[in-house]
Amino acid sequence: NLSKNTMPVYRGLERFQLLEKMGDGAFSNVYRAYDTVTEEQVAVKVVRKFELDQSEVNRAHLHPALKKKTKATERANILKEIQIMRSVKHQNVVQLISFSESDEYYFLVLELCNGGELFHRIVRMTYFSEDLSRHVIKQVAEAIRHMHEDCGVVHRDIKPENILFDSIPIIPSKNQPQRHPDDEPKEDEGEFRPDVGGGGIGLVKIADFGLSKIIWDQSTMTPCGTVGYTAPEIVRDQRYSKSVDMWALGCVLYTILCGFPPFYDESIQLLTEKVARGYYTFLSPWWDPISASAKDLISHLLCVDPNKRYTIDEFLNHPWVKNEPFHPLPKQ
Ligand code: ADP
Ligand code: MG
Repeated sequence: NLSKNTMPVYRGLERFQLLEKMGDGAFSNVYRAYDTVTEEQVAVKVVRKFELDQSEVNRAHLHPALKKKTKATERANILKEIQIMRSVKHQNVVQLISFSESDEYYFLVLELCNGGELFHRIVRMTYFSEDLSRHVIKQVAEAIRHMHEDCGVVHRDIKPENILFDSIPIIPSKNQPQRHPDDEPKEDEGEFRPDVGGGGIGLVKIADFGLSKIIWDQSTMTPCGTVGYTAPEIVRDQRYSKSVDMWALGCVLYTILCGFPPFYDESIQLLTEKVARGYYTFLSPWWDPISASAKDLISHLLCVDPNKRYTIDEFLNHPWVKNEPFHPLPKQ
């Protein structure tokens, strides 16, 4: 609970009155802010410039070119983030309103998402009903479709922390404690399912284009869409880069349906191994009441071979997404 007095003051950002901190990362802070010109609230992402770790500072001292290179790379990265955000215009993507900088900071003025992170919502609610999950994931998928198909952009950092609710969602909360796969299942587990559809949830938006990339079409030097004279390895690479978003989409869908992620281990090494082998299960009893259709969809997303993994169009055409009856293919 920060009061206005404890908010930092940034030179060059006088137009905005910072109200509260909404998020922080390694190099950035995000604030809710009041725009004194438009008299509306916005989000301001303040990114510290020239964040060098000590070894880099030391090397820069030995050779100034090293520091210059770091500055240039950082600058190029933030400008890329800006360029990508400008090119992606969609109701399910956080819009960039303006960009400016001072000696020490970059300022990204963003459309405000009042409802907080999907991540926090999962922690509070434990998990979503299938209808609510569908309502959320379809919007994320529509944003991905626009990025992949219309803009040639891959996000590369799709996760519940980067998926935001536009307004505070009205979801009946049962105040159920968060579960973990190792917890003992409760007798009345089934009764805690919040049985609501899309009502009161509103818009969901993807944020954080810091790791995003434009896939360039080598023949026309325009963002990819047509393939033309592009070499197979580049075409393949482009497919793979889109497919990383689809894997992540599968992880998010899995997580919102059951309340825990598909891949988890205390040991980073074991976790890495599980991911590499695509080793996950629909853990009983949590997955028992979830439809075969949802499981089928997830299995086509959490598919180790990126060539076999669903594309965004295949995702959007799946019966679970379209809320149509599911007829599993008979096993050969
Ligand atoms: P980072 O690169 O540090 O992860 P993000 O852009 O993801 O930066 O922002 C960090 C956090 O700030 C987000 O996870 C979210 O909680 C909050 N945030 C970011 N953008 C907005 C926004 N437009 N509206 C509300 N909160 C936001
Ligand atoms: Mg983030």
